[in-house]
Amino acid sequence: MAGTQLTTELSALQGVGPKFSAKLQRLGIRTVGDLLWHFPFRYEDYSKVVPIGELGIDQSVTVQGMINQITTRRTWKKNLLITEAIIVDETGGIKAVWFNQPYVTNILKQGHYYNFAGKITRSNREVYLASPSYEQIDSVRKGDAKHTAGLIPIYPETRGLTSKGLRFLIKPILKNLEPLQDFIPEEILKENKLPSLHVALKRMHFPLQTADAQGAKKRFAFENLFLLQLNNLTLKMRLAQEPALRLSIPEADLAATVQKLPFQLTTSQKESLNEIVKDLNQDRPMNRLLQGDVGSGKTIIAAVAALIASRNNAQTAFMAPTEVLASQHYRTITKIFPDFEGGIALFTATKTQLYRGNGAETELTKAKLRKEIAAGNIKIIIGTHAIIQKSVSFASLGLAIVDEQHRFGVSQRAALLAQAPGHDTNRALPHFLSMSATPIPRTLALTVFGDLDLSTITELPPGRKEVITKIVDPVNRKKAYGFVREQITQGRQAFVICPRIEPGAVKEGEILTEAKKKALELKSVKEEFERLSKKVFPDLRVVMLHGKMKGAEKESVMKDFHDGKYDILVSTSVIEVGVDVPNATIMIIEGADRFGLSQLYQFRGRVGRSTHQSFCLLFSGSESAGTIKRLESLLTAKNGFELAEKDMEIRGPGQFMGEQQTGLPDVAMDALQDILLVKATRDAAKEILSNDPDLSGHPALLNKFTEFQRKVHLE
Ligand code: ADP
Ligand code: MG
Repeated sequence: MAGTQLTTELSALQGVGPKFSAKLQRLGIRTVGDLLWHFPFRYEDYSKVVPIGELGIDQSVTVQGMINQITTRRTWKKNLLITEAIIVDETGGIKAVWFNQPYVTNILKQGHYYNFAGKITRSNREVYLASPSYEQIDSVRKGDAKHTAGLIPIYPETRGLTSKGLRFLIKPILKNLEPLQDFIPEEILKENKLPSLHVALKRMHFPLQTADAQGAKKRFAFENLFLLQLNNLTLKMRLAQEPALRLSIPEADLAATVQKLPFQLTTSQKESLNEIVKDLNQDRPMNRLLQGDVGSGKTIIAAVAALIASRNNAQTAFMAPTEVLASQHYRTITKIFPDFEGGIALFTATKTQLYRGNGAETELTKAKLRKEIAAGNIKIIIGTHAIIQKSVSFASLGLAIVDEQHRFGVSQRAALLAQAPGHDTNRALPHFLSMSATPIPRTLALTVFGDLDLSTITELPPGRKEVITKIVDPVNRKKAYGFVREQITQGRQAFVICPRIEPGAVKEGEILTEAKKKALELKSVKEEFERLSKKVFPDLRVVMLHGKMKGAEKESVMKDFHDGKYDILVSTSVIEVGVDVPNATIMIIEGADRFGLSQLYQFRGRVGRSTHQSFCLLFSGSESAGTIKRLESLLTAKNGFELAEKDMEIRGPGQFMGEQQTGLPDVAMDALQDILLVKATRDAAKEILSNDPDLSGHPALLNKFTEFQRKVHLE
């Protein structure tokens, strides 16, 4: 077996039978490399096995012993299933107790030996080992534990693969593994105090002490972030070599344009605009993310950028994630530039419209619109992503704007750029401006979004009052409705957000689990619309909006609500991003516990968009302390940034970014919380690229990097 390599097929190894290798293959593990990168998720310290006779209260311990007896019974008082086992070793016996895990009885067998790890607890004068984790062993290794000193890796045990089996397999492989070449240059390892690849693999699987395992884990996290940083920086460098149309505007012209806007820009808006103006004035493509709290006024900045493009005879594609939002942008921009004669088009799956200045608006067929765009007769095209994907060809696309960028990952962005017309011809790339109201935590800005330059709007337009946010106790629901009525009587409008469209259904004979019961209690748009329009506010104008409605229908509901034709809009999360109805001052969120913090923050951002005092009322289906605490951080966070950091902390980076891919494995995901590590990886990547921009001097790294890029690209 000597001379094992990472590419060696496991089935070719001695001792790996067809049954075992089939199990491994089901986990996607075929080669030695696959196996060695199947990391443990925790370790147990059996060097600290305590003889049962020496156990003390409140100790967290590992006990090694034989199951003497095991039973499960039901307590009638609390309706709990209690599994009890007696564990014995040479020094004595102790009871182990598991709650509501009756299957334990089927796993642990009388007369067999196991390791148990857990806490010694006392209640009602009885001392026991509380819900210990367990692992089968052959027999008590008398004094042997000291020999095998070190931590024992515990792998995710799936589909019949036990940790024990994996350890048995991995140990000799590591012993016989040919020396591995490390693709991370030695200086970088040294500077960051990281173990080499070979050492890290050994320590990941069989660490002598916790610090070894941590060091190994850090190395793998570093490695992935480092590759991601290389990817970001090379993307940036490559982009800096692509040609782009220089989009310029004389200073006096820009000043006059800004002067004519419906309101005075905030200092922060001006700064961001200046950064964008500077970028546009280069013959290299801009790649910038404009972030700013909800309501900070990003749209108008985008509009000015589009205007600058049009002055240079270039077109702008302005893309929004939903049709509702695209229509709103269309309305906003036609209002900001009422006498713009270069043509502003709305182009979504269900609606096409063209504005030619001075109130002249026409509807025209998609085919006609396409033709006009291709002829360069329309300068600003607003729509969903369909406008880039549905083979619309632009005469001269100078600027691509994507609103609510946080929904798109690196790969989608790359695809967008790749599809941008002109990319595979010799024509220039469009400048790229993305916008996001979900502030990106610093670590993510430097990693997942690290190929972008950042502009941040840090203030809200003057005169905005903080939205008063309250978690409403269910008993005060009536009172809350009274308050809503008062506001509406004063001329304001209200949103009601529900977590689902249809009421939950129960099949005949279906047994209701707790989760199902909870789900049934969730308010649906349809029921809530019925209830509010018929029972609670029969005299008010109530309307509903949800994702199952047709595009045109949604659009007209939104428009009518915007124009004040309705008092209350009952909606699903479709209104989450970007919707702007300044006269709405009340946001009611049903089932608030069902939404993430950033999402709630987005909902709340739909109000507080005028000088009227606004309110956000949260109804929660859960009164658990954790839920309330999470909702309370919405009340206390000073701004979106603070909340975003908190959200990431609570839900983890993966959740925070939704389902979108980051291209990062689990070991690296956790590291996205670690700003120092993130900065170190960025510095390392910068340093190496500054001396060796095409990595030709680091062939092993180049190899690995190419593989990484291929993977990111495929996602
Ligand atoms: P977001 O940044 O969330 O996309 P919007 O661009 O929708 O915000 O702007 C929010 C609201 O604030 C809009 O009604 C817009 O007209 C208004 N607004 C934007 N900038 C200013 C400003 N400088 N002064 C006053 N109102 C502004
Ligand atoms: Mg917006």
